[in-house]
Amino acid sequence: MNFKIQWKQTPNYTKGRKGKKPVAIVSHQTAGQCPGSLTWLCNPKAQSSAHYLIYRDSTIYQLVKDEDTSWHAGIVNKPTWSLYDGSNPNFYTIGIEHECYPAVGGDGNLTEIQYQASLWLHKQLIDKYNIPIDRDHLIGHYQIDSKNRPNCPGKVFPWDRLISDLREGVIINMIEDWQKKLGIDASNKLTELGLLNDPEQYKDKMGEKVDNWLFFEMLKRIAVKIK
Ligand SMILES: [Zn+2]
Repeated sequence: MNFKIQWKQTPNYTKGRKGKKPVAIVSHQTAGQCPGSLTWLCNPKAQSSAHYLIYRDSTIYQLVKDEDTSWHAGIVNKPTWSLYDGSNPNFYTIGIEHECYPAVGGDGNLTEIQYQASLWLHKQLIDKYNIPIDRDHLIGHYQIDSKNRPNCPGKVFPWDRLISDLREGVIINMIEDWQKKLGIDASNKLTELGLLNDPEQYKDKMGEKVDNWLFFEMLKRIAVKIK
């Protein structure tokens, strides 16, 4: 699924990142509804912002450029984040706010389409900044301020699903690359060795995913034949 990012400038940011690069993405949930939350994050009185805000209907706003510092997790209090280096986390993180307020549970329960938008946005940022897909690099605000933000982004925020969906995307891409480089060569070689009868019938299937058991079953059969 593809989404669009709309731009809405906030005055609440610091130009640049003091020479640092984004190493992690920090998820948040809003305390209020949109578009009120958008207006608030663009109000100088708020003294806070995020790089992105995702509405419950999947609308995505960008408020601060990735190369600039948004003010989303600058207060550190009893941090549990392994990569916290003692300096202001805003300079080396990207902040995403999710519209999720008390009236809809406010517990990190995203709508399905909002989840898809967040997954898509995470993918773009992970690819762009080479961010590893694990819970040290995809974190919640509560890992930076466990004292005053224990519920940001909320207990039911879909961490496991997000990590596994992101990893699956990576694995599919790896399989496609592997197939392009080695798949055709391998089937030609197997044909040469007399281990594959009709490579033509596999050519159209090169881009298809196979189950792990099938992959290993094929390896086993090849091993038996080679013996
Ligand atoms: Zn937060």
